[in-house]
Amino acid sequence: MSNGYTLDTNILINLNRLYPRDIFPTLWEYLEMLVDVEWACICSEVLVEVKRGGDELHTWAKDLPGFVCDLTAGEPATVAAISAEHPGWVRETQNAADPWLIAHAIAHDRTIVSEERQAGPGVEDRNQKVPNVAAEHSVECIKFFELARRQSWRF
Ligand SMILES: [Zn+2]
Repeated sequence: MSNGYTLDTNILINLNRLYPRDIFPTLWEYLEMLVDVEWACICSEVLVEVKRGGDELHTWAKDLPGFVCDLTAGEPATVAAISAEHPGWVRETQNAADPWLIAHAIAHDRTIVSEERQAGPGVEDRNQKVPNVAAEHSVECIKFFELARRQSWRF
């Protein structure tokens, strides 16, 4: 059992694009309630990437109390280990937040919520995906609808 969820950038960008708040207010309220009980967060590296979803989304995430976690002690070492295991995976801007996301999930015993698909066995490092690397570290990775089902959300 994990101890709540940490969200990947693609979750917030997809929600904002596919389920905008003016049409799906309840969805956003449910997510905020989850944050309020400290059951959902993002790491600070994901917040940086959320800028891609626009200023409004970025401001919402930044200003939501308790949503953005500060880096904790063990996380840089985990990121260094992941980068050493998968040197071709993390490049300049692409995938930059991914090892931090995984390190954060490990540090706080969280399930990752990401829309990334698992890559097949023997995938080249540059095509590695969050669910694959998370699995190597025994971190669970689910998609948004699975989060909604587990929380019994209905819209
Ligand atoms: Zn967190």
